[in-house]
Amino acid sequence: MKKELISNWGNYPQIEAEVFKPDFVQEVNGLVKKEQAILARGNGRCYGDVALSKKIISTLSLNKVLAFDIESGIIRCQSGILLSDILAITVPKGFFLPVTPGTKFITLGGALASDVHGKNHHAEGCFSNHVLDFKLVTADGNTLACNRTKNAVIFWNTVGGMGRTGVITEVCFQLKKIETSYITSRNIKVKNLDEMLDLFDQSGDTTYSVAWMDCLKKGAHQGRGILMLGEHATLADLDLKKKKNPLALPKKIKLNVPLFFPGWVLNKFAVKAFNFLFYNKQRKKVNTSIIDYDKFFYPLDAILNWNRIYGKKGFTQYQFVLPKEGGKEGLKEILDTIGNAGEGSFLVVLKLFGKTEPLAKWSFPMEGYTLALDFKITLDTQDLINQLDDIVQRYKGRIYLSKDAFSRRSLSNVPTQVTSKFTSLQAERLGMI
Ligand SMILES: Cc1cc2nc3c(=O)[nH]c(=O)nc-3n(C[C@H](O)[C@H](O)[C@H](O)COP(=O)(O)OP(=O)(O)OC[C@H]3O[C@@H](n4cnc5c(N)ncnc54)[C@H](O)[C@@H]3O)c2cc1C
Repeated sequence: MKKELISNWGNYPQIEAEVFKPDFVQEVNGLVKKEQAILARGNGRCYGDVALSKKIISTLSLNKVLAFDIESGIIRCQSGILLSDILAITVPKGFFLPVTPGTKFITLGGALASDVHGKNHHAEGCFSNHVLDFKLVTADGNTLACNRTKNAVIFWNTVGGMGRTGVITEVCFQLKKIETSYITSRNIKVKNLDEMLDLFDQSGDTTYSVAWMDCLKKGAHQGRGILMLGEHATLADLDLKKKKNPLALPKKIKLNVPLFFPGWVLNKFAVKAFNFLFYNKQRKKVNTSIIDYDKFFYPLDAILNWNRIYGKKGFTQYQFVLPKEGGKEGLKEILDTIGNAGEGSFLVVLKLFGKTEPLAKWSFPMEGYTLALDFKITLDTQDLINQLDDIVQRYKGRIYLSKDAFSRRSLSNVPTQVTSKFTSLQAERLGMI
């Protein structure tokens, strides 16, 4: 079979791989039985090297909706369907995803394997909290039906297990009832990290919360940013025009980054200018508006291939969580370290994680604060990540494997229990084989 050059969203690293593209689930059973080492891959929207392996099963053609009950909102789909396709079917019927990450271009299998979280983790948990059952092709090539009582150990090892228990072929989960496809969004301009964390805590009753932060500000303004709060709008919230079609789907994407930007375009000055404009585009302290769900949940999806702005060498996203106790000091130390390293990041996203399911031990979230930052890859990246890892470890935090391309074995939440058949470049790097 001809090899393909593949990488994930960070465009780093890249490897040559044999990519199998089965059209039928039975082919997955045959491939897994035959191959010594293989890995499932969804839409490659993880950032680092977790969905990379020398032999890959792409699930993208296994993308059918198998059942959708419009009374209960329970849906069963093949694992390769994209969340965007699920939304296109369910939103007009009054149902939304119970948990969604910051892009809708991921597969259902990827959502479960990373046990993705959204802006509502503090209120509604991870994706797995809403999963009723799934089917998994395990190392012997057989299919197992898994739920919280049947094959429960495999159920929990697969949640956040990064594909290392097998190939998820089908997932059944509970959707969330909505009256409209709009979000009531309240943006609050925040002066520093202390105010930001206080406001997060005070907003515990709000379903969705997320903050963008200016990572270059120091001293009294360190951690300044915009806190974005949201609720699904009710029919009564809409104006007459929107009321005519309250479950309308948002308009499609128009922008594209056709080529990789030259590496020098993104530098500290560009980040500084962006941060200034982003922070100051909102004049009032609080701004309330009713916006479509794409604008609230998926602003980055509006620009196709935005990852190319980091240039051909690619970028990495570093996402970690720190427990609430000591979390503020840890966040300050991390922001200081990034500032001292002369690094800047456009994307600095802070969220609050709530209580977690103890059985989901490979799932990334823990109660506390999670921060995600993008760094263009340079010769200094490894050194910076090593420093950040040390701080995260000292504050008893975790890193998100779904974003990671540089971290070290010594950090926690690294699954070790699984067979060596479903291996990845990340598993090799972290010594999990
Ligand atoms: C712009 C952007 C924003 C994001 N925001 C968030 C966020 O807010 N919260 C969050 O949690 N994540 C977020 N992510 C990360 C993303 O949601 C996860 O990496 C997700 O797993 C990607 O899904 P995918 O279908 O592209 O899977 P891939 O990237 O292809 O694979 C990811 C992992 O899942 C495994 N996998 C995929 N399909 C299967 C399957 N069928 N069976 C078994 N294993 C499988 C792979 O082996 C790999 O380990 C974001 C990513 C981007 C690009």
